[in-house]
Amino acid sequence: MNRELTTHEKNKFRQQLQALRARLLGDVKELEAEALRPTGALSGGATEDPGTSEAAEEVARTLLASEENLLNEVSAALDRLAQGTFGQCEHCSRPISRERLEAIPYARTCIRCARAGEREPV
Ligand SMILES: [Zn+2]
Repeated sequence: MNRELTTHEKNKFRQQLQALRARLLGDVKELEAEALRPTGALSGGATEDPGTSEAAEEVARTLLASEENLLNEVSAALDRLAQGTFGQCEHCSRPISRERLEAIPYARTCIRCARAGEREPV
C-alpha cells in the first residue's frame, strides 16, 4: 500500500502544487488590493453605506490571511519535494497515505498525527 512515491507521482504532485501556487499568488494580489483599498476611495462612494465596504475589506483581510497561510504550506511542500522528504510525516516520519496526498498535496503530517493534533487544545 504505502510503497515509496515514484518519480512520476512526485512530478504529478509538483505540477499540482505549482498550479495551486500560481492560482494563490493571483488571488493574494487581488485580495491585497481589496484589503488595502482605503474606505470610501471608490468612485460614487458617497452613496455607499460605509459599513458595507468595511465589511468587504474585513472579509478580504480574513481571506488573505488564510490564502497566505496556504501559500506558505504549498511553498513548503515544494521545498520538501526538492529535498526528497515529500510524503513523509513531519511528526512520526511515517509515510503519508497516497489518498491523503491526493486530497491535500501540501499535507505535512499523516492522518493519525493530524487527527491527534486536532484534539489538542489550541
Ligand atoms: Zn504522523
